[in-house]
Amino acid sequence: RQAAFRSDIGALLEQVGTGKESLSFMKRRMRRLAAQWASASRRLDDRLRSQWREQKRILVHVGFLTEESGDVFSPKVLKGGPLGEMVQWADILTALHILGHNLKISVSLKELQGFLGVPPGRGSCPLTGPLPFDLIYTDYHGLQQMRQHMGLSLRKHKCHIRVIDTFGTEPAYNHEDYATLHGYRTNWGYWNLNCRQYMTMFPHTPDNSFMGFVAEELNDTERLSIQRNKVDSMAVVYGKEASMWKGKERFLAILHRYMDIHGTVYYETQRPPEVPAFVKNHGLLPQQELQQLLRKAKLFIGFGFPYEGPAPLEAIANGCIFLQPKFKPSHSSLNHEFFRGKPTSRQVSSQHPYAEQYIGRPHVITVDFNNSQEFESAIRDIMRTKVEPYLPYEYTCEGMLERVHAYIQNQVGFWPGSPPSPFVLLPNSSALAWASNISNPPSWPPLSALRLLASLEGQSCIDACQSAGLICEPAFYRFINIKEAFSGLEVQCEGVEAEINHIFPAFSVESSECGLQKDPLLFSCAGANTKYHRLCPCRDYRKGQVALCRDCL
Ligand code: UDP
Repeated sequence: RQAAFRSDIGALLEQVGTGKESLSFMKRRMRRLAAQWASASRRLDDRLRSQWREQKRILVHVGFLTEESGDVFSPKVLKGGPLGEMVQWADILTALHILGHNLKISVSLKELQGFLGVPPGRGSCPLTGPLPFDLIYTDYHGLQQMRQHMGLSLRKHKCHIRVIDTFGTEPAYNHEDYATLHGYRTNWGYWNLNCRQYMTMFPHTPDNSFMGFVAEELNDTERLSIQRNKVDSMAVVYGKEASMWKGKERFLAILHRYMDIHGTVYYETQRPPEVPAFVKNHGLLPQQELQQLLRKAKLFIGFGFPYEGPAPLEAIANGCIFLQPKFKPSHSSLNHEFFRGKPTSRQVSSQHPYAEQYIGRPHVITVDFNNSQEFESAIRDIMRTKVEPYLPYEYTCEGMLERVHAYIQNQVGFWPGSPPSPFVLLPNSSALAWASNISNPPSWPPLSALRLLASLEGQSCIDACQSAGLICEPAFYRFINIKEAFSGLEVQCEGVEAEINHIFPAFSVESSECGLQKDPLLFSCAGANTKYHRLCPCRDYRKGQVALCRDCL
């Protein structure tokens, strides 16, 4: 069946259910953004007119909201607890609904079992028949529940699963045996999925798929009114929980010399002691009212926590400049409690690396807060700088719909181990192009986008591709994991061995050693090792939509 775009979310709102503060938050968000989704739906429908879009049967099982996983989030929705995940789930549900798929939503184990056809009371009875869904979106909690309640057949149905995973999972952590043997074992990883089945909140590592969420878009009238009403001396502090303000008195005092400071810190009866008296604290605001506050403010300032949330994008979309601390050294699972046990070695270079790297000046200023001079001059600059509201295309409703549509229609057959196809390597001036386009199954992204590069010694493929204005594309590893790739790059190899090592394919100049990857589950954009140059499959990407190559739609 062909999927037809929907522009009304009434049916979705009914499906979401009631009884939890988190569900109410998600529904309020859906209603508030409904008109924006509807107009994006019409625009994308126009653009994709000629394309056949298969209607999929989709189950969304939000594991972290189930009682069985403890649901620690719902009771904190109105108390300053994390909202980013709920923002994202609300937007995923809306996108799937708008794209016209056949959706079932579950937020409890009972509903999950009902949808999967597992008879109640037979907890661990494995699902025996065919899976009644083409796709299942869930999270790590949900995955665990499905393992327990679908038993062995999870293995059989694994390729239908997508895991919403805020911070991302790198291949070395995902591979159960490898993680266990080489010290990458964490509480979360080791599911032996294809890493593109993990879908992240920001484009962290291209080993995962970037799912994202949306922020508010402005019409011309709103833009104009923002321009008129901006107050150059008004700052809003990022942090709805008092603990995020702890120990920041010095920065607040400096900032207060220049600007009026507003906060949206949750409190019960008394002002939290962490929030100085000169701050105008509004208490936790409904999303809509926060947007209004951001429309007046010139500066949105972060003090290092929370990491990588939606709020900075909302601030920038409402015409604020986001000022945030640079982390030196970077924070990671090796040196910071928050990231400890997360299945990634990613180096987090500031509070919001996406804002730093993908948006940057004039909208985002990232400085060393411990350098008071630098901090102070950043504030002065911000007060003088005029900026327009800005939202990267990938965080608009149309951008999210376009990306999710592309994944649903093209990310099929996550079978590791597809054999390399016989390709002819053609040298060209800047990189190497592959002459043949025949591949079975057909490649998505299309092979025409592939550019083969060698990284510098110690450099990951993420960085190697990035420094060539490209992005690492893990789907292409299977095409470059051949010995001809070394000769194509004029690398001298003493011999070529295949090994189980997430650095491979790679070579060492010193030892003339060249290595291919023996286990396709370990193909890794993120991997790096000081002794090796990596072979990197890069591709182009659309401006403002890094998940998609030029010919990906
Ligand atoms: N938010 C809100 N009221 C507030 C402050 C924040 O509704 O007073 C919302 C904000 O609009 C954003 C969400 O909280 O969409 C998550 O924000 P944050 O970046 O703080 O991420 P978190 O740490 O909550 O995941």
